[in-house]
Amino acid sequence: MSDTSRLNPATIAAQAAGAVDPQSGGVVPPLQMATTYLRDAHYQPLRPDNIYLRDQSDIVRVAETVLAQLEGAAEALLFPSGMAAIAAAFRTVPNGGRVLVQSQIYWGTTKWLRDFCTRRDIDLREVDASDSAAFAAACADFKPSLVLIETPSNPWLRVTDIEAAAKAVHGAGGLLMVDSTAATPVLQRPLSHGADIVMHSATKGINGHSDVLAGVLATNDATAAIWTDIKIDRHDAGAVIGPFEAWLLVRGMRTLPLRMREMSRNAQAIAEFLASHPQVEEVLYPGLPDHIGHDIAQRQMKGGFGPLLSFVVKGGAEAALRATGKLALFHRATSLGGVESLVEHRHTIEPHTGIPEGLLRLSVGIEDVEDLKADLRQALAV
Ligand SMILES: *Cc1c(COP(=O)(O)O)cnc(C)c1O
Repeated sequence: MSDTSRLNPATIAAQAAGAVDPQSGGVVPPLQMATTYLRDAHYQPLRPDNIYLRDQSDIVRVAETVLAQLEGAAEALLFPSGMAAIAAAFRTVPNGGRVLVQSQIYWGTTKWLRDFCTRRDIDLREVDASDSAAFAAACADFKPSLVLIETPSNPWLRVTDIEAAAKAVHGAGGLLMVDSTAATPVLQRPLSHGADIVMHSATKGINGHSDVLAGVLATNDATAAIWTDIKIDRHDAGAVIGPFEAWLLVRGMRTLPLRMREMSRNAQAIAEFLASHPQVEEVLYPGLPDHIGHDIAQRQMKGGFGPLLSFVVKGGAEAALRATGKLALFHRATSLGGVESLVEHRHTIEPHTGIPEGLLRLSVGIEDVEDLKADLRQALAV
């Protein structure tokens, strides 16, 4: 594979970082499903870098190269899901250690971390990272070894200043990991703002077609002790992605910059439409000038504010569920970042986490925005 890292994201993505199939001449890299690789008569591997599938797959390497180059990272590692990526990072924390996590983020992360830290006797603190002063004070006081923030956050759309967070975490001697799922590497590159590790659920915008479960971690410091531990853990514990999933990811990522641009444009137009709708109490979208995190988002995101937006319907759960039931284009389903638009009533899913009862979370796809607005207009009509 040629070095394409100096090229711009659209070029890296469209050409899969230069991956082709030299053997057949195909312009697409091949899908090799073998779990094991041949040795010759002298018992030498035909290819020294291919012994066994758990840690060695050409197509996984291609997907990781594309991701690393898009992220501006030295190295990227794929996992079979976003949660497997988060778990791999936190499993490096010794028993009795201290970790800090942003409050009110992706519920699956919070739930797993609480269970894991209890089991492993790790001291876990949860703080609102979008409050820079409170976050810095918590870091200085608690001195966590690993910190996870999520920006923009899901489903509250809180925005955290990555650069300020990195300073606070590093000042306390810890490492900062950023869950950048809602932005993808196209709209936000946390490593360039001082983060040590960036994490994505590639199930979402990165794949973008709602047909692959995957996760990724990337870093600029591939020699760091935590990165070595993560790599060993992935290899030895076997949290690896299969070749077919990696192949689909490579295919999906070819249009990633295009999709994120269009989704952000549609989401922005829908946020503006909802903000002036009489049945809507509040719209949470960092692209709106009156959003509390707008200035920070504008500084650390490029090319749009992503597909994720939440809004609160007047009339609580009943009104929100009634509107949801009337939507014809938005699929009623969880997840985000696919080409098709989705709607979710988060309070039904996580009723005890303080989510407003009237809150609907949208993942805006790449459909015609006038069709999407018309669907919302008829669903919200009283
Ligand atoms: C979906 C999601 C995850 C978990 O990823 P999976 O691929 O579903 O395991 C983590 N963080 C955020 C922000 C997510 O949206």
